[in-house]
Amino acid sequence: MNLNMDIQYIKGIGPKKAYKLNKLGIFTLKDMIYYFPRSFEDRGNFKKVCTLEQDEKVSVKAVIISITSKEVKNKMEVINVVVKDETGFLTLTFFNQSYIKKYFKVNDYVLAFGKVKKEYGKVYLTSCEIEHLNKASSFNITPVYPLTYGVTNNEIVSIFKTIFNNEIKVKEYLPLDVIKKHNLCSIDYAIKNIHFPSSKEALKVALYRIVFEEFLALQLGLFMFKTGINDEIGISFDICDLDEIKKVLPFELTNAQNRTLNEILQDMNSTKVMNRLVQGDVGSGKTVVALIAIFNAVKNNYQASLMAPTEILAEQHYSYFCETLEKLGIKTGLLVGSLTKKKKEEVLFKVKNGEIDVLIGTHALIEDNVEFNNLGFVITDEQHRFGVKQRNKLSKKGNNPDILVMTATPIPRTLALILYGDLDISIIDELPPGRQKIDTMAIEKSKRASIYNSFARKEVQKGRQVYIVCPLVEESENIDAKSAVELLEELKSEFFSDLRLGLLHGKMKSSEKDSIMKSFKNQEIDILVSTTVIEVGVNVPNATLMIIENAERFGLAQLHQLRGRVGRGSEKSYCVLVYNSKTEVCKQRMNIMQETNDGFKISEKDLEIRGPGEFFGTKQHGIPELKVANIFKHMKILKLAQNEAKEILLKDINLKNNIELKRYIVDKFEKSLKEISLN
Ligand code: ADP
Ligand code: MG
Repeated sequence: MNLNMDIQYIKGIGPKKAYKLNKLGIFTLKDMIYYFPRSFEDRGNFKKVCTLEQDEKVSVKAVIISITSKEVKNKMEVINVVVKDETGFLTLTFFNQSYIKKYFKVNDYVLAFGKVKKEYGKVYLTSCEIEHLNKASSFNITPVYPLTYGVTNNEIVSIFKTIFNNEIKVKEYLPLDVIKKHNLCSIDYAIKNIHFPSSKEALKVALYRIVFEEFLALQLGLFMFKTGINDEIGISFDICDLDEIKKVLPFELTNAQNRTLNEILQDMNSTKVMNRLVQGDVGSGKTVVALIAIFNAVKNNYQASLMAPTEILAEQHYSYFCETLEKLGIKTGLLVGSLTKKKKEEVLFKVKNGEIDVLIGTHALIEDNVEFNNLGFVITDEQHRFGVKQRNKLSKKGNNPDILVMTATPIPRTLALILYGDLDISIIDELPPGRQKIDTMAIEKSKRASIYNSFARKEVQKGRQVYIVCPLVEESENIDAKSAVELLEELKSEFFSDLRLGLLHGKMKSSEKDSIMKSFKNQEIDILVSTTVIEVGVNVPNATLMIIENAERFGLAQLHQLRGRVGRGSEKSYCVLVYNSKTEVCKQRMNIMQETNDGFKISEKDLEIRGPGEFFGTKQHGIPELKVANIFKHMKILKLAQNEAKEILLKDINLKNNIELKRYIVDKFEKSLKEISLN
């Protein structure tokens, strides 16, 4: 059978089932066989009814006594199948699965698998799977597939039965010597055993192979891409006398800043196009490094541009750059969406004819109407907020400009090398002197009133200022804005009627945001209620307390970013995480935040708890999804695959002699490659 054939034409599937599968992103036979289980359940745990314990997952052999169904609210159908074995009675419950009534009848012998629930003296199995005893193929290790509404695990399993009854053979695409060297099974064996494990051993062998090839493909793709970039000839900047700018700075650079700056300057000097990532914890002083690098670019008679994710941040950078660079005769401009048409046109004009040397802005920078005279250096701040595509769009406005990206979401180095295979990395792993540790405490929501009444109030009385961040609702500025307004109202009426409160959210006009931020900076506002728009970069040294509501909804890296808004002055600063969840994961995460102020440790832990899938929106990084492989669990295999990828490419840089492998990678990278390709 052709792997590219439409799923609906496979015997036993048809248009109806195919429609459901399409919803899972499955269109071809190939999509189907690469639709891997999320996990595996050992259904060999057979128990007698009288021994069942609450919440355990068990299999039971029994005979059906009765089948009843009733409709509950929203037309949901509940089917109860009462069964018994020689030790007792058990009720199997099913929701909206009418087929049960059709396929099973009283006196049938069945195998049932599910989770035990005991209620009012009765025993139930929920999330139930049921099969006829004589037809039950392998109630042993059962794959559990990621599902959406309308397709059950049983259906998927039976589709695979149909497929593998059709004698399909998946052709090998890994080089034979690689298979031998790493003791891999064939892809055909792997696919069959991942869907129908013939034994625990076989499953292990199959999974190993899939994990290995996922990593291998990822690394090959990234290496090939990286090699592509390194070939490009870029600008060779002279390294100018930087004393001129260092003299106007109010402080000395830290060692880490100097080291990073030197790495950047070396890249600028080389003819290779610079692609460098600067990682540095919140407050480590990335901006000033960017400033000096930009100064160097401008001294070489090139224009430079800096893109930030929010207007507040862009404006903050702008005023800082203006202040410093103006003294040195360098002209800085600001381009954000909210400028008046006239102002925008003026800026665009000056950028085009070269009157503006440094252009700072938001996404507005990458719009088509922005043209530079001679763009040679491009910086993206807080790059995790941007897609690869956006980053590249800005650089395309120049002629192979050097590219620097900065982030405060630190990623363990090995991981960064994988994800940013195309980037060199500098790390600012030292905070400027005199920084104080931000004391962090996590409290349950029920205790929040005392934090407001005593703690927050006390800080304000001392002349300090407070941020209160409202819960992250979802990826919608509208709803976040609403929740910010509601929180403000509550705080006003119940806690702080006598204090000066301000509100900041993403739906406000930029001029409004700006004036609120200015008032806050000028200490005309005591407490600023805000959404995550203040997450990145905002600098108000007099703010010493940050309270984050529903902290459990945020990623740890994000909490750390938010917390970094305080502790920017000489006063002792605090962060209070208000959580409203009793789960173990929540407890663990709150503990990490209390224990450490080290962004690297935090992100490493966060990754461990949440897994990389959730940590990085993979789409954003332009890399294909890892379906089975896990960067943490399979670190060893990852290293092996990484080395193998290098060896393969050393011998065969364009994979000309490994056409099948190349096809497999191109296929995987198709979308992502399109996105990350610079040209
Ligand atoms: P981030 O890395 O989070 O973007 P910033 O660049 O905003 O950090 O710097 C945070 C603060 O630290 C700023 O107020 C900046 O002026 C100050 N700063 C940066 N470098 C130094 C230094 N070497 N010594 C003292 N203060 C510094
Ligand atoms: Mg910054």
